[in-house]
Amino acid sequence: MKLYGSMGSRFGFLNWWPGDTKDEIFIGAILTQQTTWTNVEKAISNLKKSKALSVRALSRMETSIIEKLVRPSGYYRQKAKRLKLLSSTIMSEYGSLEGLFGLGQEALRKTLLGMKGIGPETADSIMLYAAGKPTFVIDAYTKRIMYRVFGTPANIDYDSLKEVFESALPKNPALYKDFHAQFVELGKSHCKTKPLCNHCPAFGLCKYAGQVPTGH
Ligand code: SF4
Repeated sequence: MKLYGSMGSRFGFLNWWPGDTKDEIFIGAILTQQTTWTNVEKAISNLKKSKALSVRALSRMETSIIEKLVRPSGYYRQKAKRLKLLSSTIMSEYGSLEGLFGLGQEALRKTLLGMKGIGPETADSIMLYAAGKPTFVIDAYTKRIMYRVFGTPANIDYDSLKEVFESALPKNPALYKDFHAQFVELGKSHCKTKPLCNHCPAFGLCKYAGQVPTGH
């Protein structure tokens, strides 16, 4: 919480994830794989203009048309195929995204992880930001910052690091959302591959401030 406080007092409350609807967040979480958010925004804008920014609409659309719309997000053939399959599965098995999100937390995570193209980070992002479930999202920034600040093992697996947060923090989706957003902000602004420690808000707490070993 001290680390969270230090980041929050510098960056303020970060209103994440960008997206007006649950469908938009769900689709954005698939499109953001292996690309930058700027590219995702272009694809989302195309989908919006074509009234295809919903699971229902995508389930009814030809894959070739989805390909054209999501092209700016990279790996567009794979992503279009994935979106089509996921949307069709959700509509046929749950009737809507809301229907899927009606599952209990454990069942929802298991179901998402069983869907092609959804790994732990994507599943947790969807659960936290679209479904509002208290599950902590681990990404490369989180791993890197936790290693540098607290010496958490650099090769810690996803679920173990997730458990570090979930066992220590109250189960509060708003806290989890903002905590993850703060990590992303710190990772982008200071704790880069080559860290900029001098003005980092976590400097006073960080084990490796100013002396990060190479390769981490
Ligand atoms: S002090 Fe340096 S290594 Fe530590 S979190 Fe900040 S930028 Fe990263």
